[in-house]
Amino acid sequence: MAELQPSPIRAGLACRCPRCGKGKLLSGFLEVRPNCEACGLDYSFADAGDGPAIFVIMLAGFVVVATALIVEVKYEPPLWLHAVLWTPLILATTLLPLRALKGLMIALQYHHKAAEGRSDRDAP
Ligand SMILES: [Zn+2]
Repeated sequence: MAELQPSPIRAGLACRCPRCGKGKLLSGFLEVRPNCEACGLDYSFADAGDGPAIFVIMLAGFVVVATALIVEVKYEPPLWLHAVLWTPLILATTLLPLRALKGLMIALQYHHKAAEGRSDRDAP
């Protein structure tokens, strides 16, 4: 009996292999490994492109800009205090979710068998 595939959301957010859920997907911070160390799945299909970055930009932009606007309107702090407050928040809202979002997008790509669009005219 074939082993059940792990949930793509759980495997992706944990940066694990989308087929077995055990092997690591990434090496270093964002580098995709060549294949799964547990089941041997070839990761050459994995191409998240700019997907994780655009979600991080939208998330971080919303959180940081909304928070900065609220603080500015309510307390009118000096500019140096804005820099001190928002630099750590920007780093936290961009760097922390980036790995998990890349893992999630690759796992969803594998789960839905998503690939680059092809035209019938390209076929031999
Ligand atoms: Zn695997």
